[in-house]
Amino acid sequence: MYEEFWRESGDAAELVIPGWQTMSYFSDVTNVCWFLEPELDQQVRRLHRTVGNAAVDGYHVIVGTGSTQLFMAALYALSPDAAGDPSASSRQRPTTRSGNQSCLLGRQCFCCDLQSYPAVTDFLRSGLFRWAGDASSFEGDNYIELVCSPNNPDGAIREAVLASEPGAGGKTVHDFAYYWPQYTPITEKADHDIMLFTVSKSTGHAGTRIGWALVKDREVAKKMTKFVELNTIGVSKDSQLRAAKVLGAVSDGYEAKVVGAPRLFDFGRRKMVERWSMLRAAAAASGVFSLPEETSGFCNFTKETAATNPAFAWLRCDGEDVDDCASFLRSHKILTRSGAHFGADPRYVRVSMLDRDDAFDIFVRRLSSLH
Ligand code: PMP
Repeated sequence: MYEEFWRESGDAAELVIPGWQTMSYFSDVTNVCWFLEPELDQQVRRLHRTVGNAAVDGYHVIVGTGSTQLFMAALYALSPDAAGDPSASSRQRPTTRSGNQSCLLGRQCFCCDLQSYPAVTDFLRSGLFRWAGDASSFEGDNYIELVCSPNNPDGAIREAVLASEPGAGGKTVHDFAYYWPQYTPITEKADHDIMLFTVSKSTGHAGTRIGWALVKDREVAKKMTKFVELNTIGVSKDSQLRAAKVLGAVSDGYEAKVVGAPRLFDFGRRKMVERWSMLRAAAAASGVFSLPEETSGFCNFTKETAATNPAFAWLRCDGEDVDDCASFLRSHKILTRSGAHFGADPRYVRVSMLDRDDAFDIFVRRLSSLH
Protein backbone atom coordinates (compact mmCIF):
# COMPACT_ATOMS: atom_id res chain seq x y z
CA MET A 1 0.00 0.00 0.00
CA TYR A 2 2.80 2.41 0.88
CA GLU A 3 4.69 1.89 -2.38
CA GLU A 4 2.50 4.46 -4.09
CA PHE A 5 3.39 7.08 -1.46
CA TRP A 6 7.13 6.47 -1.65
CA ARG A 7 7.08 6.38 -5.45
CA GLU A 8 5.55 9.83 -5.45
CA SER A 9 7.84 11.26 -2.80
CA GLY A 10 10.67 11.70 -5.34
CA ASP A 11 14.15 11.77 -3.87
CA ALA A 12 12.99 12.63 -0.33
CA ALA A 13 13.83 9.11 0.84
CA GLU A 14 16.63 8.32 -1.58
CA LEU A 15 20.06 7.36 -0.29
CA VAL A 16 23.44 6.74 -1.91
CA ILE A 17 26.09 4.88 0.09
CA PRO A 18 29.61 4.96 -1.38
CA GLY A 19 31.67 1.77 -1.25
CA TRP A 20 33.92 2.99 1.56
CA GLN A 21 31.12 3.90 3.96
CA THR A 22 29.41 1.91 6.74
CA MET A 23 32.17 -0.68 6.84
CA SER A 24 32.87 -0.94 10.57
CA TYR A 25 30.89 -2.99 13.11
CA PHE A 26 30.81 0.08 15.35
CA SER A 27 28.62 3.16 15.21
CA ASP A 28 29.03 5.00 18.52
CA VAL A 29 31.05 3.23 21.18
CA THR A 30 29.99 5.79 23.79
CA ASN A 31 26.34 4.73 23.45
CA VAL A 32 24.80 1.80 25.38
CA CYS A 33 23.66 0.49 21.98
CA TRP A 34 27.08 0.82 20.35
CA PHE A 35 25.91 -0.36 16.91
CA LEU A 36 23.08 2.21 16.68
CA GLU A 37 23.73 4.81 13.96
CA PRO A 38 23.42 8.27 15.59
CA GLU A 39 21.33 9.47 12.65
CA LEU A 40 18.76 6.73 13.26
CA ASP A 41 18.70 7.51 16.98
CA GLN A 42 17.94 11.17 16.17
CA GLN A 43 15.27 10.43 13.58
CA VAL A 44 13.49 7.91 15.82
CA ARG A 45 13.30 10.48 18.63
CA ARG A 46 12.29 13.24 16.23
CA LEU A 47 9.43 11.17 14.77
CA HIS A 48 8.06 10.19 18.18
CA ARG A 49 8.19 13.86 19.22
CA THR A 50 6.36 14.82 16.02
CA VAL A 51 3.62 12.20 16.45
CA GLY A 52 3.43 12.20 20.25
CA ASN A 53 2.82 8.44 20.43
CA ALA A 54 5.68 7.60 22.80
CA ALA A 55 7.94 9.32 25.30
CA VAL A 56 11.60 9.42 24.30
CA ASP A 57 13.26 11.64 26.91
CA GLY A 58 15.23 9.50 29.32
CA TYR A 59 14.82 6.43 27.09
CA HIS A 60 17.54 4.41 25.39
CA VAL A 61 16.98 3.57 21.72
CA ILE A 62 18.00 0.01 20.82
CA VAL A 63 17.98 -0.97 17.15
CA GLY A 64 17.17 -4.48 15.95
CA THR A 65 16.88 -6.51 12.75
CA GLY A 66 13.14 -5.92 12.75
CA SER A 67 11.24 -5.62 16.00
CA THR A 68 11.19 -9.44 15.96
CA GLN A 69 14.84 -9.50 17.03
CA LEU A 70 14.11 -6.93 19.74
CA PHE A 71 11.25 -9.02 21.06
CA MET A 72 13.72 -11.87 21.57
CA ALA A 73 16.24 -9.42 23.05
CA ALA A 74 13.62 -8.22 25.53
CA LEU A 75 12.78 -11.77 26.65
CA TYR A 76 16.48 -12.41 27.14
CA ALA A 77 17.01 -9.17 29.04
CA LEU A 78 14.02 -9.61 31.33
CA SER A 79 14.77 -13.19 32.28
CA PRO A 80 16.61 -13.36 35.61
CA ASP A 81 19.18 -15.78 34.19
CA ALA A 82 20.38 -13.27 31.65
CA ALA A 83 21.81 -11.08 34.41
CA GLY A 84 25.45 -11.83 33.75
CA ASP A 85 27.66 -14.21 31.94
CA PRO A 86 25.58 -16.21 29.45
CA SER A 87 27.72 -19.32 29.84
CA ALA A 88 27.10 -19.25 33.61
CA SER A 89 23.37 -18.92 33.05
CA SER A 90 23.30 -21.94 30.80
CA ARG A 91 25.15 -23.95 33.45
CA GLN A 92 22.55 -23.03 36.07
CA ARG A 93 19.55 -23.40 33.83
CA PRO A 94 18.46 -27.01 34.28
CA THR A 95 18.21 -26.91 38.04
CA THR A 96 17.29 -23.34 38.86
CA ARG A 97 15.07 -22.29 36.00
CA SER A 98 13.42 -25.13 34.28
CA GLY A 99 9.87 -24.36 33.48
CA ASN A 100 9.20 -21.57 35.93
CA GLN A 101 9.73 -18.61 33.61
CA SER A 102 6.91 -17.66 31.40
CA CYS A 103 6.21 -15.50 28.48
CA LEU A 104 2.67 -14.42 28.11
CA LEU A 105 0.42 -12.78 25.69
CA GLY A 106 -2.18 -10.07 26.11
CA ARG A 107 -5.79 -10.90 26.68
CA GLN A 108 -7.97 -13.31 24.69
CA CYS A 109 -5.29 -15.52 23.30
CA PHE A 110 -4.86 -13.59 20.10
CA CYS A 111 -1.31 -13.99 19.09
CA CYS A 112 0.55 -11.61 17.01
CA ASP A 113 1.26 -12.27 13.36
CA LEU A 114 0.93 -15.87 12.27
CA GLN A 115 1.20 -17.08 15.86
CA SER A 116 4.79 -15.89 15.54
CA TYR A 117 5.28 -14.79 19.14
CA PRO A 118 4.84 -18.31 20.57
CA ALA A 119 7.02 -19.67 17.76
CA VAL A 120 9.71 -17.02 18.23
CA THR A 121 9.62 -17.58 21.99
CA ASP A 122 9.98 -21.34 21.89
CA PHE A 123 11.95 -22.25 18.79
CA LEU A 124 15.35 -22.33 20.48
CA ARG A 125 13.93 -24.17 23.52
CA SER A 126 15.46 -21.56 25.80
CA GLY A 127 15.86 -22.48 29.42
CA LEU A 128 15.29 -18.82 30.30
CA PHE A 129 11.61 -18.60 29.39
CA ARG A 130 8.79 -20.42 27.72
CA TRP A 131 5.51 -19.40 26.13
CA ALA A 132 2.59 -19.76 28.56
CA GLY A 133 -0.42 -18.66 26.54
CA ASP A 134 -3.14 -16.22 27.45
CA ALA A 135 -2.16 -13.72 30.15
CA SER A 136 -5.70 -13.43 31.50
CA SER A 137 -5.61 -17.03 32.72
CA PHE A 138 -2.11 -16.87 34.22
CA GLU A 139 -1.48 -16.97 37.95
CA GLY A 140 1.81 -16.14 39.56
CA ASP A 141 4.38 -13.39 39.67
CA ASN A 142 7.15 -14.66 37.47
CA TYR A 143 6.16 -13.61 34.01
CA ILE A 144 6.80 -11.40 31.01
CA GLU A 145 3.52 -10.12 29.63
CA LEU A 146 3.42 -9.11 26.00
CA VAL A 147 0.88 -6.41 25.19
CA CYS A 148 0.21 -5.87 21.50
CA SER A 149 -1.76 -2.67 20.91
CA PRO A 150 -3.44 -2.09 18.52
CA ASN A 151 -3.66 -5.84 18.51
CA ASN A 152 -2.81 -8.14 15.64
CA PRO A 153 -5.13 -9.61 14.33
CA ASP A 154 -8.22 -7.77 15.56
CA GLY A 155 -6.96 -4.18 15.92
CA ALA A 156 -8.26 -3.84 19.49
CA ILE A 157 -6.56 -1.45 21.91
CA ARG A 158 -5.06 -3.48 24.73
CA GLU A 159 -3.56 -2.88 28.12
CA ALA A 160 -1.62 -5.16 30.42
CA VAL A 161 -3.89 -7.53 32.35
CA LEU A 162 -1.37 -8.70 34.95
CA ALA A 163 -0.31 -6.24 37.62
CA SER A 164 2.67 -7.47 39.54
CA GLU A 165 3.30 -6.64 43.19
CA PRO A 166 6.24 -4.27 43.64
CA GLY A 167 9.42 -6.35 43.88
CA ALA A 168 7.78 -9.40 42.28
CA GLY A 169 9.05 -10.81 39.01
CA GLY A 170 6.39 -9.54 36.59
CA LYS A 171 7.56 -7.58 33.54
CA THR A 172 5.77 -6.13 30.55
CA VAL A 173 6.76 -5.58 26.91
CA HIS A 174 4.57 -3.33 24.75
CA ASP A 175 4.51 -4.05 21.03
CA PHE A 176 3.43 -0.80 19.40
CA ALA A 177 4.01 -1.81 15.77
CA TYR A 178 0.58 -0.35 14.87
CA TYR A 179 0.44 2.61 17.26
CA TRP A 180 0.63 5.15 14.43
CA PRO A 181 -1.97 7.70 13.26
CA GLN A 182 -2.96 5.88 10.05
CA TYR A 183 -4.27 2.96 12.10
CA THR A 184 -5.57 4.42 15.32
CA PRO A 185 -6.09 7.74 17.09
CA ILE A 186 -3.03 8.70 19.14
CA THR A 187 -4.71 9.07 22.51
CA GLU A 188 -1.67 9.20 24.78
CA LYS A 189 2.08 9.52 24.84
CA ALA A 190 2.98 5.98 25.91
CA ASP A 191 5.71 5.70 28.52
CA HIS A 192 6.08 2.01 29.34
CA ASP A 193 9.32 0.29 30.32
CA ILE A 194 9.96 -1.40 26.95
CA MET A 195 8.15 -0.28 23.79
CA LEU A 196 8.75 -1.89 20.39
CA PHE A 197 8.29 -0.17 17.02
CA THR A 198 9.16 -1.06 13.44
CA VAL A 199 9.41 0.55 10.01
CA SER A 200 7.53 -2.50 8.66
CA LYS A 201 4.20 -1.04 9.78
CA SER A 202 4.94 2.65 10.29
CA THR A 203 6.34 3.43 6.82
CA GLY A 204 5.84 0.09 5.02
CA HIS A 205 9.56 -0.77 4.74
CA ALA A 206 9.31 -4.32 6.06
CA GLY A 207 12.20 -5.46 3.86
CA THR A 208 14.61 -2.97 5.43
CA ARG A 209 14.33 -5.09 8.61
CA ILE A 210 14.69 -2.25 11.08
CA GLY A 211 12.88 -2.07 14.39
CA TRP A 212 13.65 -0.11 17.51
CA ALA A 213 12.95 -0.42 21.20
CA LEU A 214 12.51 2.48 23.60
CA VAL A 215 13.86 1.23 26.90
CA LYS A 216 13.68 3.08 30.21
CA ASP A 217 16.13 1.10 32.29
CA ARG A 218 19.83 1.28 31.43
CA GLU A 219 20.59 -2.24 32.64
CA VAL A 220 17.77 -3.71 30.54
CA ALA A 221 19.00 -1.67 27.56
CA LYS A 222 22.51 -3.08 28.07
CA LYS A 223 21.22 -6.66 28.17
CA MET A 224 19.13 -6.16 25.05
CA THR A 225 22.23 -4.76 23.34
CA LYS A 226 24.17 -7.82 24.52
CA PHE A 227 21.56 -10.11 22.96
CA VAL A 228 21.87 -8.42 19.56
CA GLU A 229 25.67 -8.51 19.89
CA LEU A 230 25.64 -12.27 20.59
CA ASN A 231 23.03 -12.90 17.94
CA THR A 232 24.16 -10.82 14.94
CA ILE A 233 27.01 -8.52 16.18
CA GLY A 234 24.86 -5.49 15.56
CA VAL A 235 22.40 -4.47 12.87
CA SER A 236 23.04 -3.57 9.21
CA LYS A 237 24.24 0.03 9.08
CA ASP A 238 23.05 0.35 5.49
CA SER A 239 19.54 -0.51 6.61
CA GLN A 240 19.78 1.83 9.59
CA LEU A 241 20.78 4.73 7.34
CA ARG A 242 17.95 3.95 4.96
CA ALA A 243 15.47 3.77 7.84
CA ALA A 244 16.83 7.07 9.19
CA LYS A 245 16.33 8.69 5.79
CA VAL A 246 12.79 7.36 5.50
CA LEU A 247 11.81 8.40 9.05
CA GLY A 248 13.38 11.81 8.43
CA ALA A 249 11.28 12.22 5.28
CA VAL A 250 8.15 11.41 7.30
CA SER A 251 8.96 14.03 9.95
CA ASP A 252 9.87 16.61 7.24
CA GLY A 253 6.30 16.25 5.96
CA TYR A 254 5.02 17.66 9.23
CA GLU A 255 7.52 20.46 9.65
CA ALA A 256 6.31 23.75 8.35
CA LYS A 257 9.72 24.74 7.01
CA VAL A 258 9.75 21.95 4.42
CA VAL A 259 7.11 23.27 2.04
CA GLY A 260 5.14 20.70 0.07
CA ALA A 261 6.87 17.66 1.57
CA PRO A 262 4.67 14.58 1.26
CA ARG A 263 2.78 13.57 4.40
CA LEU A 264 2.82 9.86 5.11
CA PHE A 265 0.22 9.70 7.88
CA ASP A 266 -2.28 11.74 5.85
CA PHE A 267 -1.77 9.37 2.92
CA GLY A 268 -2.00 6.29 5.17
CA ARG A 269 -5.12 7.46 6.98
CA ARG A 270 -6.86 8.43 3.72
CA LYS A 271 -6.08 5.01 2.25
CA MET A 272 -7.13 3.10 5.33
CA VAL A 273 -10.41 5.04 5.69
CA GLU A 274 -11.17 4.39 2.02
CA ARG A 275 -10.30 0.71 2.26
CA TRP A 276 -12.28 0.13 5.43
CA SER A 277 -15.33 1.78 3.93
CA MET A 278 -14.96 -0.36 0.77
CA LEU A 279 -14.61 -3.48 2.91
CA ARG A 280 -17.61 -2.63 5.11
CA ALA A 281 -19.71 -1.96 2.00
CA ALA A 282 -18.63 -5.29 0.47
CA ALA A 283 -19.43 -7.21 3.68
CA ALA A 284 -22.83 -5.51 3.85
CA ALA A 285 -23.53 -6.23 0.15
CA SER A 286 -22.79 -9.91 0.62
CA GLY A 287 -24.78 -10.20 3.85
CA VAL A 288 -22.77 -13.19 5.07
CA PHE A 289 -19.80 -11.53 6.78
CA SER A 290 -19.36 -9.41 9.83
CA LEU A 291 -16.51 -7.15 10.96
CA PRO A 292 -15.53 -5.65 14.31
CA GLU A 293 -17.52 -2.54 15.28
CA GLU A 294 -15.79 0.68 14.33
CA THR A 295 -14.42 2.55 17.35
CA SER A 296 -13.10 6.07 17.47
CA GLY A 297 -11.28 8.50 19.71
CA PHE A 298 -9.70 11.93 19.75
CA CYS A 299 -6.32 11.88 18.06
CA ASN A 300 -3.83 14.20 19.74
CA PHE A 301 -1.72 14.19 16.58
CA THR A 302 -4.35 15.21 14.01
CA LYS A 303 -6.44 17.10 16.62
CA GLU A 304 -9.54 15.40 15.26
CA THR A 305 -11.79 12.55 16.28
CA ALA A 306 -10.71 9.58 14.20
CA ALA A 307 -11.86 6.01 13.73
CA THR A 308 -9.55 3.04 14.18
CA ASN A 309 -8.52 1.51 10.84
CA PRO A 310 -6.71 -1.71 11.69
CA ALA A 311 -4.02 -3.08 9.39
CA PHE A 312 -5.88 -6.39 9.44
CA ALA A 313 -9.59 -7.10 9.09
CA TRP A 314 -10.86 -9.70 11.54
CA LEU A 315 -13.62 -11.06 9.36
CA ARG A 316 -16.32 -13.53 10.46
CA CYS A 317 -18.24 -15.82 8.12
CA ASP A 318 -21.82 -15.69 9.42
CA GLY A 319 -23.30 -18.30 7.03
CA GLU A 320 -24.72 -21.23 9.02
CA ASP A 321 -23.21 -23.78 6.65
CA VAL A 322 -19.69 -22.31 6.88
CA ASP A 323 -17.62 -23.46 9.84
CA ASP A 324 -14.20 -22.94 8.22
CA CYS A 325 -14.13 -19.42 6.84
CA ALA A 326 -10.57 -19.64 5.44
CA SER A 327 -11.41 -22.74 3.32
CA PHE A 328 -14.65 -21.18 2.15
CA LEU A 329 -12.83 -18.02 1.03
CA ARG A 330 -9.97 -19.99 -0.52
CA SER A 331 -12.50 -21.82 -2.69
CA HIS A 332 -13.47 -18.35 -3.95
CA LYS A 333 -9.88 -17.33 -4.59
CA ILE A 334 -9.45 -15.21 -1.47
CA LEU A 335 -6.42 -16.08 0.65
CA THR A 336 -6.65 -15.32 4.36
CA ARG A 337 -5.29 -16.70 7.62
CA SER A 338 -7.68 -18.78 9.69
CA GLY A 339 -8.70 -17.66 13.17
CA ALA A 340 -7.56 -21.15 14.27
CA HIS A 341 -3.97 -19.90 13.95
CA PHE A 342 -4.72 -17.29 16.58
CA GLY A 343 -6.42 -19.57 19.08
CA ALA A 344 -9.82 -18.34 17.88
CA ASP A 345 -12.91 -19.77 16.18
CA PRO A 346 -12.22 -20.95 12.55
CA ARG A 347 -15.25 -18.97 11.48
CA TYR A 348 -12.91 -15.96 11.78
CA VAL A 349 -10.13 -15.07 9.37
CA ARG A 350 -7.49 -12.36 9.32
CA VAL A 351 -7.22 -10.37 6.10
CA SER A 352 -4.38 -7.97 5.34
CA MET A 353 -5.54 -4.42 4.58
CA LEU A 354 -2.11 -3.31 3.32
CA ASP A 355 -1.81 -4.98 -0.08
CA ARG A 356 -1.43 -3.01 -3.30
CA ASP A 357 -4.53 -1.24 -4.67
CA ASP A 358 -5.17 -3.71 -7.49
CA ALA A 359 -5.13 -6.74 -5.17
CA PHE A 360 -7.31 -4.97 -2.61
CA ASP A 361 -9.85 -4.00 -5.29
CA ILE A 362 -10.10 -7.59 -6.53
CA PHE A 363 -10.49 -8.80 -2.94
CA VAL A 364 -13.46 -6.52 -2.15
CA ARG A 365 -15.09 -7.27 -5.49
CA ARG A 366 -14.87 -11.00 -4.86
CA LEU A 367 -16.08 -10.64 -1.30
CA SER A 368 -19.15 -8.58 -2.20
CA SER A 369 -20.18 -11.20 -4.79
CA LEU A 370 -20.44 -13.99 -2.18
CA HIS A 371 -23.90 -14.63 -0.81
N1 PMP B 1 4.76 -6.79 15.88
C1 PMP B 1 3.59 -6.94 15.26
C2 PMP B 1 2.33 -6.64 16.02
C3 PMP B 1 3.53 -7.39 13.93
O1 PMP B 1 2.34 -7.56 13.32
C4 PMP B 1 4.74 -7.68 13.25
C5 PMP B 1 4.82 -8.17 11.83
N2 PMP B 1 3.68 -8.41 11.18
C6 PMP B 1 5.92 -7.51 13.94
C7 PMP B 1 5.92 -7.06 15.24
C8 PMP B 1 7.25 -7.82 13.30
O2 PMP B 1 7.84 -6.69 12.82
P1 PMP B 1 9.28 -6.66 12.11
O3 PMP B 1 9.05 -6.73 10.65
O4 PMP B 1 9.84 -5.35 12.55
O5 PMP B 1 10.11 -7.81 12.63
